Amino acid sequence: MSVRCGIGYDLHRLAEGRKLMIGGVEVPFDKGPVGHSDGDVLAHALCDALLGAAGLGDIGTHFPDSDPKWKGANSLLFLEHARKLLDEKYFAIDYIDAVVILERPKLGPHFPQMREALAKSLRVAEDQIHLKAKTNEGVDAVGRGEAIACHVVATLASVAQNDAAKSSTFPCPNPAKNPR
Ligand code: MG
Repeated sequence: MSVRCGIGYDLHRLAEGRKLMIGGVEVPFDKGPVGHSDGDVLAHALCDALLGAAGLGDIGTHFPDSDPKWKGANSLLFLEHARKLLDEKYFAIDYIDAVVILERPKLGPHFPQMREALAKSLRVAEDQIHLKAKTNEGVDAVGRGEAIACHVVATLASVAQNDAAKSSTFPCPNPAKNPR
């Protein structure tokens, strides 16, 4: 078994009249991300981190914003699709660490719900997902409340096909940690 890491980043402008979707959860606020889909920066950066670790391109490769099919899409669908691609390539998600950057509102109270939604989409345990939030100290577009950004690092375990064939629990090397 080998371990691989992937990094993901995303940024969306914020505008009035849009829902603030983060990690599959609607956070009450007067602005939300502008985007072809629901503009969920956490889901998008996470999707890129997973695809990057697996060597499978990026979110734009799989869900082009020119495709009307994805207009207004719930970004958790992207994660479910990415998870299926990882399964096909014999990758298991080991750990996810994320930082969401926005000036307001406070995200901490919403983290449990976000972790639950993300864990369900990826079929991992909630303790395999760690979320953090920061402000941008009032500087640049994020600091002025004009944008939201997110960075994610994902760690995958790669299991050779021969090993996977011997294991009835693959792609979850530890079924207790990875309920399916
Ligand atoms: Mg995006």
